[in-house]
Amino acid sequence: MTEIPSDHPRHDSLVTRHRIEAGVEKGITSRQGLIAQGRGEAFDYLLGERTLESADEAARAAAAHLLLARHPVVSVNGNVAALCPEELVELAEATGADLEVNLFNRTEERVAAIADHLREHGASEVKGLTADARIPGLSHERAKVDADGIYDADAVVVPLEDGDRAEALGAMGKTEIVIDLNPLSRSAQVAAVPIVDNVVRAVPNVARHARDLRETPREELEAIVAAFDADAALTHAERAIREGAIADERS
Ligand code: ATP
Repeated sequence: MTEIPSDHPRHDSLVTRHRIEAGVEKGITSRQGLIAQGRGEAFDYLLGERTLESADEAARAAAAHLLLARHPVVSVNGNVAALCPEELVELAEATGADLEVNLFNRTEERVAAIADHLREHGASEVKGLTADARIPGLSHERAKVDADGIYDADAVVVPLEDGDRAEALGAMGKTEIVIDLNPLSRSAQVAAVPIVDNVVRAVPNVARHARDLRETPREELEAIVAAFDADAALTHAERAIREGAIADERS
């Protein structure tokens, strides 16, 4: 991999791009994942490659949801696995969540490669290989999940999910926490908690909030969840993208 000088103005973005490229070479990320990355980069550029105040609030509400959940699961696809494997493992540890590989373009080889990659980065157990249950309302391959994983979960973190599956999971009554840089994407629109931020910032941020909230009584966690306004968070992010200069200021 080409060494990127740390003082390069586009350092973080280029490192991210290289991780996705390496993910494709390793059989973790699909070629379509390259296109998704490009789309995400454009939104991140407009956001100033920073975490908005509204995204930080969403990350805190997400952490509260995960700590309250009976069975939280973090869904992992090829882009997220390539971008932040260690951070996913830390998020699972901080919230007591399972990690489950769940792919739009599912192949058994890619599921196994991603599970290995996560184990290389510290995961002890990775779900998604059994695929013995189906999400109702989706075509065969896209519906496959583990019966004791996403199928059973009451709260699911779905980074970079497509709109259909996000909707189908929501219809099963699960609390959905979506991480997506596009506030207009259908998955962000249907989420209980949309985090409009780059996964490389959002995943560790949710983990940090979860560690901070670990000793917090249930009633307080429930109050954090109740106070979160998904529509307001989406509106704030969309304005930040469209108007750029409004930065983090709320009006
Ligand atoms: P839509 O919901 O608008 O139909 P889509 O599911 O077709 O979107 P894709 O083109 O597959 O969208 O792109 C995947 C989504 O993931 C995009 O919305 C993009 O902004 C987002 N994305 C890509 N990379 C990242 C990243 N690193 N962090 C957060 N979100 C990202």
